[in-house]
Amino acid sequence: MRQSRLFAPTLKKVSNDIEVVSHKYMLRAGMIRQVAAGIYNLLPVGWKVVQRIEAIVREEMNRAGAQEVLMPAVQPAELWQQSGRWDFYGPELLRFQDRKNGDFCLGPTHEEVVVDMVRRDVRSYRALPMNLYQIQTKFRDEIRPRAGLMRGREFIMKDAYSFDVDRAAAEESYKQMFAAYERIFERCGLDFRPVEADSGAIGGSLSHEFQVLADTGEDAIVSCPDCGYTANVEKAGVHHRHDAPTGDAANETEQTLVDTPLTRTIEKVSAFFSVPPTQIVKTVLFIADDVPVAAIIRGDLNVNEVKVKKIVGAEEIRAATPAEMIEATGAPPGSIGPLGLTCRVVADHSLSGLPNVIVGANKKDHHITGVSVPRDLPDLEFVDLRMAADGDPCGRCGGSFGFFRGIEVGHVFYLGTKYSEAMKCTYLGVDGEEHAMEMGCYGIGITRIMAAAIEQHHDDYGIMWPMALAPWQVHIVPLQLDDEAVVNEAERIYTALQERGVDVLIDDRDGRPGVKFKDSDLIGAPIRVTISTKSLAEGCVEWKLRREKDREMVPVADVLAKIAELI
Ligand code: ATP
Ligand code: MG
Repeated sequence: MRQSRLFAPTLKKVSNDIEVVSHKYMLRAGMIRQVAAGIYNLLPVGWKVVQRIEAIVREEMNRAGAQEVLMPAVQPAELWQQSGRWDFYGPELLRFQDRKNGDFCLGPTHEEVVVDMVRRDVRSYRALPMNLYQIQTKFRDEIRPRAGLMRGREFIMKDAYSFDVDRAAAEESYKQMFAAYERIFERCGLDFRPVEADSGAIGGSLSHEFQVLADTGEDAIVSCPDCGYTANVEKAGVHHRHDAPTGDAANETEQTLVDTPLTRTIEKVSAFFSVPPTQIVKTVLFIADDVPVAAIIRGDLNVNEVKVKKIVGAEEIRAATPAEMIEATGAPPGSIGPLGLTCRVVADHSLSGLPNVIVGANKKDHHITGVSVPRDLPDLEFVDLRMAADGDPCGRCGGSFGFFRGIEVGHVFYLGTKYSEAMKCTYLGVDGEEHAMEMGCYGIGITRIMAAAIEQHHDDYGIMWPMALAPWQVHIVPLQLDDEAVVNEAERIYTALQERGVDVLIDDRDGRPGVKFKDSDLIGAPIRVTISTKSLAEGCVEWKLRREKDREMVPVADVLAKIAELI
């Protein structure tokens, strides 16, 4: 590609609001431009990288035996009603009507459509296993689109769906996809970890996320150095052996109602009574499938909403509004507590056996001191509700959790028969009976990979593409366009590389060396070959790898071989 013709409008600066590196460099390198919040144009350089990622994903999916299809972006409500998700999916699902008032949505995921396709034409166990995938545009009306392509509203996803005769076969498909994902992210040059995940709204039980390690990641992950257990904090089990009661029955005291004006946080209650947060009960009210549930935990810890959701078996959960709190407890936020509640109360292990704690009184601006958990809340069932944090005891072995942040680039789920039963996707077994197919679903954020790769591969000057994702492997930069020898040599290398199938960019623009080098660093091709009057006087070109500081002079005759070694 000739840079004089390239539509890559590079920028020296972007607005200060743009904080995440990948977002900044994609804008500065002229790879993307925003069309609306969370919706982007991919310009030639951005699109080229996306196509590289897609090619790797395709190769590995095909190699794993999956077949590529293309399903529609527009999906009829009818299918979502059959699966039951039309009512549950929430406002991320963009719904609209066609001219005949038929309800439709823009696909955020394709379980319904793929199940419908398979149930119509797959009848016998002989056709299974089957794994269908597509690379396609998804739409999710994210509440907070963020950091450019990292969390877009419209984005490109690879989604695959496996269909099997039974659980054992489905687990085999899951393992194959897991292995394919490892190869894909390795080939993309990413430092990643598979982590145990909650299976979220999609359902099922077996689930792993593939997390790219990055401080800018939205996901919090804990990992135990002793047993290797690694999980999203949403899911991570916390050991409770270490949470022994801080006192015994001898410390039990009388309940006392205390007027506590303006003490609506754990910190303020702690300061008011001069007690540590460990002696206060934190009460959090949730609405789980329209029903209030109170979750209680020791004041120094946080409740994990996903764990509460799982324990009560809800499809949807959210924090209660102040009005809902008053309705369920009689008190506004900051004064609610577990005593005398009529709604379901679930308690974290950390409260088990505590003899002398402070709780909200369910009366505005009041707390009750001297509460004994075993004496005053005798019917509680204790479970793990705790949001894992750095240093917490590992749920598996009691070791001490380390904490890191990640970007979720892929997700594999075992779905079981959730969709196939709801939508009657069955096959005729060897036994002559109809059975629901066992399913798995497997997503990869194609556009998010591009952002994640930049997060891991950049410096202060721009992107440092891994070879496999680079828009161009080689950047040729002739400096003096008025020197015929320079131009001829640059063109000779350019043509020779093209003939060898190397993707090469030549900076044939008339400009100052400083400007050319700045753009070159920004766009980030792994190899740069600079040709100048001075270097040619020595029979050389200047060789520089984007990842390395050093430049070296390489004889003109050796350049092609040197490039071939690296590609
Ligand atoms: P997240 O928790 O980040 O919202 P998710 O759990 O909703 O992700 P999945 O439904 O598993 O995501 O989608 C599969 C993959 O698609 C994710 O692993 C991620 O890489 C990508 N993805 C999901 N939402 C977005 C988005 N808004 N923008 C870009 N990529 C996304
Ligand atoms: Mg999401």
